[in-house]
Amino acid sequence: MPGIYIHIPFCRQACHYCNFHFSVSQKRRPEFVKALIREIKMQKDFLYPDSGNRFPLDTLYLGGGTPSLLDTAELDVIFNVIHKYYSFAPNAEITLEANPDDLIPGKLETLRKLSVNRLSIGIQSFYEDDLQFMNRSHNSRQAIDVLNYAQEAGFVNITADLIYGTPGMTDKQWEQNIMQLVKMGIPHISAYSLTVEKKTALDVFIRKGKVAPVDEEQAARQFDLLCALTAQHGYEHYEISNFGKKGYFSKHNLGYWSGEPYLGMGPSAHSFKPGMRQWNVAHTGKYIDSLKLGKIPAQQEILTEEQQYNEYVMTALRTMWGIDEKHVKNKFGARYHESMMRSAQKYLKNGKLVHSSGRLKVTPSGKFFADGIASDLFA
Ligand code: SF4
Repeated sequence: MPGIYIHIPFCRQACHYCNFHFSVSQKRRPEFVKALIREIKMQKDFLYPDSGNRFPLDTLYLGGGTPSLLDTAELDVIFNVIHKYYSFAPNAEITLEANPDDLIPGKLETLRKLSVNRLSIGIQSFYEDDLQFMNRSHNSRQAIDVLNYAQEAGFVNITADLIYGTPGMTDKQWEQNIMQLVKMGIPHISAYSLTVEKKTALDVFIRKGKVAPVDEEQAARQFDLLCALTAQHGYEHYEISNFGKKGYFSKHNLGYWSGEPYLGMGPSAHSFKPGMRQWNVAHTGKYIDSLKLGKIPAQQEILTEEQQYNEYVMTALRTMWGIDEKHVKNKFGARYHESMMRSAQKYLKNGKLVHSSGRLKVTPSGKFFADGIASDLFA
């Protein structure tokens, strides 16, 4: 499932918790679009084997930042050049990340015409207090309206992001946030625990005592509530933060988690091919200036066996399929397998991991701790 990721580094305002690469100044947007077009043309052979055998791609994902901020002319030129230089399978998944305040009916029509068939909408919460706390650019009315507009425009494959563990959010409110999506028939939910990233506004507020620190117990409780409610309503918990109805799992993310190659373009975007990764400079000005000179501002790294093993363990353990022992033995050898099984013993004993049919998986009580467990299984 090879795919393409495009990073659009502009936002209307800065959410207090966010540490992605973005700018709220729109001044360099025209130059950025030109630079991106140039990169799209220059990278056209990255994913294809040396033989020049051009296989169709399965996914295209525009993320950011806020891709829905781009106007019709900007989106038009980006999609045209993408479709000119890359080919996609007939059932390719084409996702655009959007914020509720951008998706007005006319814009939705445009997106459909441009081949977008999946929307990832940053709802985060339906409560005004939470949205203000996070400094989101939309309000609770817009959060509901956007889902109606998207469905009326014919979008079925919709995923909505929610955040739990927000200070002051009660379990009842969290339940109502989830149920709002369930009731509206949204087939995929991505839910994240509020995380305090260094140097974000939220980090500063907490350090200055203006905001209470994140309550881990509340986050764990709300995660359990999320797992229970989504299971009750027919969503499969296929990755720690992702819940989908059958047929609506994210193909793009499944590609990342199963080690498929992908090409990332735009500032800060990462690319991957077996045994190597590449990443663009996380600075929009430097990105534009470099592409003006005809140079892709990327660095590359050849991945060691140990890095590849660790990456596999981290991503596989987060999914409902877990770690495939046969894959570990065949790809990395008996030494890695033995060390992994030794480290897994304490979690098998305390019930956070289960070992069955040649796979190691997190149990319901281990899910919230999956990343910590994975790092204990690292080489
Ligand atoms: S809209 Fe998204 S990328 Fe932009 S600041 Fe908010 S969370 Fe970050």
